[in-house]
Amino acid sequence: MIDAAATEGQSFLMEPRSIILKSGLYVTATPIGNLGDMTYRAVETMKAADLILCEDTRQTAKLCSAYGIETPRSPYHDHNAARVRPGIITKMQDGAAICLVSDAGTPLISDPGYKLVREARDAGLDVFPVPGANAAITALCAAGAPSDQFFFAGFPPSKSGAREQVFNSLSTVPGVIAFYETGPRLGDSLIAMAKAFGDRQAVVARELTKLHEEFREGILMELGQSYKDQPPKGEIVILVFPAENRPVDDKDINDYLQNALEEMSVKDAAAAAAQELGIAKKTAYQRALAIKERR
Ligand code: SAM
Repeated sequence: MIDAAATEGQSFLMEPRSIILKSGLYVTATPIGNLGDMTYRAVETMKAADLILCEDTRQTAKLCSAYGIETPRSPYHDHNAARVRPGIITKMQDGAAICLVSDAGTPLISDPGYKLVREARDAGLDVFPVPGANAAITALCAAGAPSDQFFFAGFPPSKSGAREQVFNSLSTVPGVIAFYETGPRLGDSLIAMAKAFGDRQAVVARELTKLHEEFREGILMELGQSYKDQPPKGEIVILVFPAENRPVDDKDINDYLQNALEEMSVKDAAAAAAQELGIAKKTAYQRALAIKERR
């Protein structure tokens, strides 16, 4: 949701280029909190479109008023989508340029729009992405989680049995797993994740781009217990690190060296530990030596 406080006093009115849009569907991302994250192209597109389809017209009205967008708006959400879709397709076939927005972020990502895009493509219509903010990517780019591979898992199911099943099915995902969650369910969800994923590291990213933005990192079970005691307010992304990206602790180093010293010299075991665990060579050598001397 838009956080007016984060952008208080700023004006986002700008002179639009007068563009003419080809007919088709414009899937347009909007900010996830900070109004300033609206892209220039999103403003131009929303101004030039014949119609803006909104998840909630009142929410989009705030955005339109901040940017001087006067295009007619019409609701498109889970409850009316099946009924209004045929009419929207007909309008585009008749030459209309139609913009699809959600309340925040990128449409279709845990938001309505998939069936409309599918049907527009099946009807041979053009579908244009107008990219911008997305909460999962926003969390990932600043959380310090490994970012080479990630899996977007959306909202976990609310019922505990279904949730457990989903988490178990994700336990072998090799990269980061990104979830959306609500404050009241956060604690239980993190505890259930700890049971399925083990003692992995995770980041809870809250109120991204807003006044009370917060990143909190920890082990899943510890985060879960703490948030269960004090459920947080606001919007939340959870990033669960892959199993091997848990920070190396003393036990990992000792276990590794104990095994390595069965077959290697102190020097070689230390070099292997430094390479495998990403620790300093000097630390690895001193530990290896101490273990060897205790034997
Ligand atoms: N389409 C949106 C996107 O591109 O991110 C997501 C819509 S989904 C209905 C809303 C959920 O996204 C929230 O419950 C929260 O989990 C996450 N979210 C949205 N904005 C957020 C923010 N500013 N900070 C943290 N999480 C956010």
